[in-house]
Amino acid sequence: MSISHQPVRVQGDPETYVSFEARDITDLKRSEETLKAFAERLDLATNAANIGIWEWDLLTDALHWDQKMFNLYRIAPTDPDELYDLWRLQVHPDDLPAVEREVARTIEGQGLLNTEFRIIRPDGATRIIRAHAQVQVDDNNVPHRLIGLNQDITEQRNMEDELRTLASTDPLTGASNRRQFMSRLSEEFERCKRYNTSLVLLSLDIDHFKRINDTYGHPSGDDVLKELVILCQSTLRTTDLFGRVGGEEFQAALILTHIAAGNNTAERLRRRVEQTRVSTHGEVISFTISIGITALRPEDNSIEDILKRADDALYEAKRSGRNRVVQL
Ligand code: GH3
Ligand code: MG
Ligand code: MG
Repeated sequence: MSISHQPVRVQGDPETYVSFEARDITDLKRSEETLKAFAERLDLATNAANIGIWEWDLLTDALHWDQKMFNLYRIAPTDPDELYDLWRLQVHPDDLPAVEREVARTIEGQGLLNTEFRIIRPDGATRIIRAHAQVQVDDNNVPHRLIGLNQDITEQRNMEDELRTLASTDPLTGASNRRQFMSRLSEEFERCKRYNTSLVLLSLDIDHFKRINDTYGHPSGDDVLKELVILCQSTLRTTDLFGRVGGEEFQAALILTHIAAGNNTAERLRRRVEQTRVSTHGEVISFTISIGITALRPEDNSIEDILKRADDALYEAKRSGRNRVVQL
């Protein structure tokens, strides 16, 4: 029960009376408790998910943030009238135009906002934020409020990047793995076909690698593989494709390159490998590679055609004495 009282005077009567009012507020109390429990649950959930909630009054431009928004942006609670400008200052300059465009589009279309952007916090850290929001309209269907949330998804994104890298690269050397190389070669092959551009494919294989393993041990063999990848990557152009397609077999696709230039690159690489000394586990190892090289031809219908020719050329390089470049 809620009981209230107040003095009551009656005209012409010198006495003062007291009026009592008793109300049954059971339902009100129950609603309050439900609301409080709900708010606590929401608080726990948004905390756990790193989510901040905001509300933007489109008529006054005032922006309201909950405490978690300020935590996300690492700034102290500020005047709602200045908050929008402060937010703009923290958004990465490269991302700001797109975000503001998305927000404007959301208000115009009265739809849902779902976007991502980077912020640079006062402590210098760059974080990735995902924002969701919904427009609220008044009785005349005029947008007057945007309510939304921000979530810090940096860790999630980093993990995704890491997984993608793991799936596409060889862990020993960091080079693209076979799957990644073949998939990019297919794309490049289609592009060459469509625009009639040139491409040169190299198949390369370490000579007598088994002997290196047998003589110096498997870990030293691993170091030779790593060194070879460094040599290849520093010899090739950044636009060229390169991958470890087998144990000690690698392939490179030289983009927009004609066979003469391709031969020069292959020969330069072969010579650099021959001159390299790998110091590992107290030993100094020298090694050589054989390279098969071929250019894309108009009659090549699939990447298998050009891959087969490069492998045949490599086989020929091995057969005719190794440490050489053979073109087919
Ligand atoms: P060839 O000149 O004819 O190519 O002779 P080779 O000995 O290099 O050729 P072969 O294919 O017989 O041997 C390849 C060797 O590569 C066998 C295998 O143990 C070794 N190998 C494959 N992957 C790795 C690796 O990741 N690390 C090391 N250390 N060795 C590897
Ligand atoms: Mg070999
Ligand atoms: Mg081999």
